[in-house]
Amino acid sequence: DSRAADRTVDSVCPYCGVGCQLTYHIKDDAILHVSGRDGPSNHNRLCVKGRFGFDYPRHASRLSVPLIRRDGVPKGLDPDFDPADPTTHFREASWEEALELAAGGLVGLKEAHGPDALAGFGSAKCSNEEAWLFQKLVRTGFGSNHVDHCTRLCHASSVAALMECIGSGAVTASFMQALDADVVILTGCNPTVNHPVAATFFKQAAKRGTRLIVIDPRGQALCAYAHRTLRFTPGSDVALFNAMLNVIVSEGLYDETYINEHTEGFEALKTHVVDMTPEAMSGLCGIPAEEIREVARLYANADKAMIFWGMGISQHTHGTDNARCLISLALACGQTGRPGTGLHPLRGQNNVQGASDAGLIPMVLPDYQPVGDAQLRAAFEELWNTPLDANPGLTVVEIMDAIAAGQIKGMYILGENPAMSDPDLDHARAALARLEHLVVQDLFVTETAQFADVILPASAWPEKDGTVTNTNRQVQLGRAATPLPGEAKPDWWIIQQIAQRFGLPWDYRHPREVFAEMTRGMASLGHISWERLEREDSVTYPCPADDAPGADVVFSDAFPTPSGRARFSPTRPLPPDEPLDDVYPTVLTTGRQLEHWHTGSMTRRAKVLDELEPEAVASLAPGELARLGLAPGEQVVITTRRGQITLAARVDPLMPEGMVFVPFCYAEAAANLLTNPALDPYGKIPEFKYAACRLSSS
Ligand code: SF4
Repeated sequence: DSRAADRTVDSVCPYCGVGCQLTYHIKDDAILHVSGRDGPSNHNRLCVKGRFGFDYPRHASRLSVPLIRRDGVPKGLDPDFDPADPTTHFREASWEEALELAAGGLVGLKEAHGPDALAGFGSAKCSNEEAWLFQKLVRTGFGSNHVDHCTRLCHASSVAALMECIGSGAVTASFMQALDADVVILTGCNPTVNHPVAATFFKQAAKRGTRLIVIDPRGQALCAYAHRTLRFTPGSDVALFNAMLNVIVSEGLYDETYINEHTEGFEALKTHVVDMTPEAMSGLCGIPAEEIREVARLYANADKAMIFWGMGISQHTHGTDNARCLISLALACGQTGRPGTGLHPLRGQNNVQGASDAGLIPMVLPDYQPVGDAQLRAAFEELWNTPLDANPGLTVVEIMDAIAAGQIKGMYILGENPAMSDPDLDHARAALARLEHLVVQDLFVTETAQFADVILPASAWPEKDGTVTNTNRQVQLGRAATPLPGEAKPDWWIIQQIAQRFGLPWDYRHPREVFAEMTRGMASLGHISWERLEREDSVTYPCPADDAPGADVVFSDAFPTPSGRARFSPTRPLPPDEPLDDVYPTVLTTGRQLEHWHTGSMTRRAKVLDELEPEAVASLAPGELARLGLAPGEQVVITTRRGQITLAARVDPLMPEGMVFVPFCYAEAAANLLTNPALDPYGKIPEFKYAACRLSSS
């Protein structure tokens, strides 16, 4: 059989936070196909992305040579630019010339304007080792904490609430624990689309008798398996959850023993929710009071219950408040710390958990150690033999504002695409164009790379060795399967080259050496070594011993807070930042599609996935389409205060009236031209899930 593989390599899927283990079947150094392995989070299953999204590294537009912007070519998106032939705008260069220019420009800006003139975006597409090196370069080479990544656009608000209330930003239990739960709440998430293999566990749980409660303005495939579905008014989450807390308090459904032994602040919460009765909140959230009571009772009376949430919770100006409410529900009812219970913010990217743990965050060092804590900082100063800045750095959207204000003048961007992923893209793109020096390290000339002075050709996931940490806290090993094309290099090698040009004495020879350094700086990686991962493929943290499995469920005895107790954090409903009005009467919400990944840089270059979803679409309820006089497939114009896009209308009976959903992966109709950059004050996350818009036929 000419199609038979000549070798196989075991690795992990590069897309979502489920972290499915897979095997590449390879012939003549090309991946023929992919099969699922019996990993702890996938049990041989893969979704369409894991199975078919493997050919992007060989796309015609893959970068294989360093590029330098040609003199006189303006920075920005040129409709005539062809990523498959970037030589119209960039010239090919040797690594030596490209690295000298890339690092030299950054060093020069630091010398002229100080450390605060530079910033870096790492990526949740990085391995743990790359994330560690990147944040170490910014902190010890650039000399500031201006380093962030897409967690800021994802679960930053969830992490802010979890850190405040339970002292840890990671999940308290894996999603496999849903199989043990009596009740599972899924809110602000659509696992069938965004965490497809996790969704199979939820379906399995429902078939075994677990009562699924889906709480979301939009309908979804899991509603067919749900015991109850609450489709509340968009943006009213805090009102709904406080009404549930009111029921739990007023009907005495809380777990007094658990509260007394493990929490503080419950009396204040009790007083706080007293006026937020289901009757008082029903009008705000659009759910009948009796349904709110019923769902609150179901959750509180369950022997074992879990709450899962996604970006529908986190991507709001009240995202932290949303997560605080969910944590209060779990604490009030004693629904954490036991099998079948827990709090689980479903992580989006394959390594957003690991990249955050490794310190790609401006206000904390690795393992969430605050940069302002002199004692904690001293440990890293000793490990890295360098003094560190005590001031928290700027976050993703704040960095764009600082560029626009002229404070930040140079950036190094590794694997992120802010020219597509940031809110209010006109503003973000104008900021990128204003940078005096931009270095982009990526696989393709992405929209962001079109603003770069130097583009460094990086390694794709199937080409590298590295670890990633999934939504379940499982640290997993990915193995290089195919060779790098042309002169493309491993990302850790490129970061090290830049670091050396900042005068840093780095001499890593393999990612395993980086991982070894990480285990010295991160208590969370205790008892997890590279060698162990080579043997076992996956180890969950925290792990108590070299030969013991990690903890699937945590915080049975105490929480990692100063008192060992979790804290209730009361909230009150706030309106969305941009209320609807007569001019902009419809809610715009954005997110992912099953077949495409984030800004589309990988999946739109994966043949099968792109053929499945080839064009930009806006999903609308049948009634909305009828009101606009549009047939499915006809063009709809969406306008907000920030911009306008035109794309194909798709009828979706699961959409509520008065709302439109647009995926953010299509450059030709970029959803983020429309989105609102207003930030949650705690997590600094933009309100991607709610902007006021107007729909019209073209
Ligand atoms: Fe990959 Fe996520 Fe699909 Fe698993 S569920 S195959 S990790 S995209």
